[in-house]
Amino acid sequence: MTASRSSLSRAEVVDRLTDLLGADRVDTDAARLRAASVDRFKKYSAVHGMLDGPFPAAIARPATVEQVAAVLRFADEELVNVVPRSGGTATEGGLETVVEDSVVLDVSGLDAILDIDPVDMTATVQGGVPLQALEDAVREQGLTTGHSPQSRPLAQLGGLVATRSTGQLSTLYGGIEDLVVGCEAVLPGGTVTRIKAVPRRAAGPDVRHVVIGNEGALCVVTEVTVKLFPFRPETCRYLGYLVDDFGDGIEGLRRLVTDGYRPSVCRVYSRQDATQHFGDLTEGRTLVVVVTEGPERLSAATAEAVEEVFAGVPPVDPGAIEAWFTDLNWGPDRIRAEYDDMLRRPHLGYTTEVSCSWSQAAGLYEAVTARLERDFLRFADITMLGAHSSHSYQTGTNLYFVYDYDVRCDPREELAEYHVPINAIVVEEALRAGGSMVHHHGIGKYRTPWVQEEHGSAYVLLERLKRAFDPNGVMNAGTVFPLDGFTDPFVGIPGREGS
Ligand SMILES: Cc1cc2nc3c(=O)[nH]c(=O)nc-3n(C[C@H](O)[C@H](O)[C@H](O)COP(=O)(O)OP(=O)(O)OC[C@H]3O[C@@H](n4cnc5c(N)ncnc54)[C@H](O)[C@@H]3O)c2cc1C
Repeated sequence: MTASRSSLSRAEVVDRLTDLLGADRVDTDAARLRAASVDRFKKYSAVHGMLDGPFPAAIARPATVEQVAAVLRFADEELVNVVPRSGGTATEGGLETVVEDSVVLDVSGLDAILDIDPVDMTATVQGGVPLQALEDAVREQGLTTGHSPQSRPLAQLGGLVATRSTGQLSTLYGGIEDLVVGCEAVLPGGTVTRIKAVPRRAAGPDVRHVVIGNEGALCVVTEVTVKLFPFRPETCRYLGYLVDDFGDGIEGLRRLVTDGYRPSVCRVYSRQDATQHFGDLTEGRTLVVVVTEGPERLSAATAEAVEEVFAGVPPVDPGAIEAWFTDLNWGPDRIRAEYDDMLRRPHLGYTTEVSCSWSQAAGLYEAVTARLERDFLRFADITMLGAHSSHSYQTGTNLYFVYDYDVRCDPREELAEYHVPINAIVVEEALRAGGSMVHHHGIGKYRTPWVQEEHGSAYVLLERLKRAFDPNGVMNAGTVFPLDGFTDPFVGIPGREGS
């Protein structure tokens, strides 16, 4: 917890916001303030009603860009910490209000779909539009965004851009950074900036990247223009193979992708992870899953290449792969069910996703599992540890570690006792392998202890962006950039080298 630097009292913050937005746009309901102080829908202590705060002074719900600018101007002048929020599906602490009397700036009221252009193949929406709403609207015109994170039913375009998200079809369509062609953002102090949508330009550094991935620590995303593609579910082909080990699966994907083929889905699941998703189908083996799509001839040719790469490897029923794929997304019902399960039994599943080059992937998987096994006594409560690679590139892939554990401690200690040390092992091994500590969930607050190591001598670029765009330090304190004095649960954890 960090004290506010503002000279305004909590009540004065609320009064000033009310003057700016009107009482109906300033929420001070105690239960909603508590809920807005965290992000992880799986935050075990929160699920059990054990939230210690600090709780925000208010949730501001602007309806216009001008109101967003007014709140940011006020916050900058009065040194009030602002935590932007849209779909609320963040997983790395980015939404946590660690500074007392923060203002949560909820942009989900900016929810207009402004334009769908089937000639120039773009859609322009306000930052609070849920991706699912946009996807539904463009599909009516036979189009798709190509962006399909599992949180698609809930996540909103502003948050998806701010976290540098990626979707399940990324090997074909790319991550959000490949899909955003233009955007509007509001800077601390209230300046509104618009980055025009053009197919490409060589007009200096690509300023979209100041906005994409800023996690609310530099600016607020209020409008986004994304690419569109033809939607052709009828050309999809679903393929699955049982390989001997994780490294074999990675090598198959490497051959396919580096050769120039771009399936939309391209995954390898470790034995444990495959079993939890596909049950008996996997016969306890490692599973490769591929989906091809696009124009019929391209999809067919890609599927043919997949069959060549995995020739002689036992296939699995394509119908089972298709059934799994169509039920991957997480809407409110599924989140509620997992939430209820956590209330019923002391058990939790969590994840850490990293990336590395092809040559490091199998070794990184082995290093993480070996290290967890070495420290097995400490992690005796782990009931499942697995990983999958789900997003591949010409030069490498991601590894998405999944782990379930029984919670045998005070619910308040869950994060520090389990997620933190396991997460630390994955992050440290990824950095040791020369990879990245985070593939797509963002740094949030949970991975800031490693941000300088992640960036090395490039950290100065990041730090100067913060100083330039948020000189008064009012944007989402503790997110992306470590907060001095923030007593985070990662400090001094056993087994974390260098701490
Ligand atoms: C079940 C589940 C599945 C998921 N699957 C995926 C996946 O497949 N791929 C993936 O990439 N991620 C995934 N995530 C993580 C999460 O959905 C993404 O990070 C998503 O982009 C967050 O969008 P949001 O609208 O919910 O943002 P929020 O959770 O509201 O905010 C996320 C971060 O961005 C900041 N922020 C929010 N809105 C703005 C804005 N308008 N301007 C500036 N900053 C802002 C916040 O301060 C916070 O730091 C998943 C999460 C869950 C719970």
